[in-house]
Amino acid sequence: MAEVGFIGLGNMGAALARRLLRQHRLCVWDLNPEAVGRLRKEGAAAANGPAGVAAAGANMVVTCLPTSAEVEEVLFGEGGVAASLSSGSLVVDMTTGDPLATTRMAARLAERDVGLVDAPVSGGVAGARKGSVAIMVGGPQARYERARTVLETISPNVFHAGDIGAGHAMKLINNMISSCARIATFEGLALAVKAGLDPRRFADILSKCTGRGYVADTTLPDYVIPGRRDQGFGLALMYKDLTLATGLAQELKVPVTAGAHARELFRRALNELGDDVDITQLVRIFECAASVDVTERGAQ
Ligand code: NAD
Repeated sequence: MAEVGFIGLGNMGAALARRLLRQHRLCVWDLNPEAVGRLRKEGAAAANGPAGVAAAGANMVVTCLPTSAEVEEVLFGEGGVAASLSSGSLVVDMTTGDPLATTRMAARLAERDVGLVDAPVSGGVAGARKGSVAIMVGGPQARYERARTVLETISPNVFHAGDIGAGHAMKLINNMISSCARIATFEGLALAVKAGLDPRRFADILSKCTGRGYVADTTLPDYVIPGRRDQGFGLALMYKDLTLATGLAQELKVPVTAGAHARELFRRALNELGDDVDITQLVRIFECAASVDVTERGAQ
């Protein structure tokens, strides 16, 4: 049982923290006191700020925050955790972050003899709860091994992606690919309904065809078709990932035409639907364009 600090208890962070709590002592912090209160009821200790998670004796601190900007703030801002970590500690950043910012943060932490690995996840909140998410770690081999012993409490699917920043690059590229698949699948669903197909039958058949994938197998039958709009991942967070992925491509002079299209479509969806909606709401753009209701309610 390790003493682990955990910062960031949102949709994904809380699900990951709950997995860790099964086998480790956790000290948690989030700006939202209700999120802290929920974990406290389940057995975690509550810190009074980022530095407090290290003060509780943790020599490993996990972060799962919206962007690298918040990670930088909790590490190096006023009352930040970096100044309180003892030499030899490890920060495990499970945020979907910016590989370049992560490399800079690793260099700053190294001055204090504190390590950093990036360890973002893929598989959604439902996957985190079930313990099946993929965790892709960037960092030197020895730090990967050390992080893995704790991360395996979350899921057995822990991978060494490469050196620092490689986990974030892998995750951003995955999300660029999955966003393109999401757009293509939602567009196809709207067309199918307009062409008279029953939406559930469409999803059943698609999941056995070459157009299958996570969106066809999971997002359509579990969320979109029953009319559920609570997959637990913000549309704005995916736009952030698309911005980072296409920014990385620009930096490396790699044209990403499908990724850039996805980024712009998500921008439009945020403007039309609002900043605070679940990613499943994206389907409304396609429903509106085709004048259809893609839920099973609409099919009745
Ligand atoms: P969320 O918006 O649900 O939660 C973010 C949490 O961070 C909130 O509880 C907020 O209060 C807290 N926070 C923000 N700034 C803070 C600060 N300075 N100090 C302390 N707490 C602060 O986000 P989420 O869905 O949990 O996502 C977290 C990260 O995981 C993001 O980078 C996201 O892209 C990634 N991710 C999410 C999912 C998902 O399905 N939700 C899947 C894969 C990856």
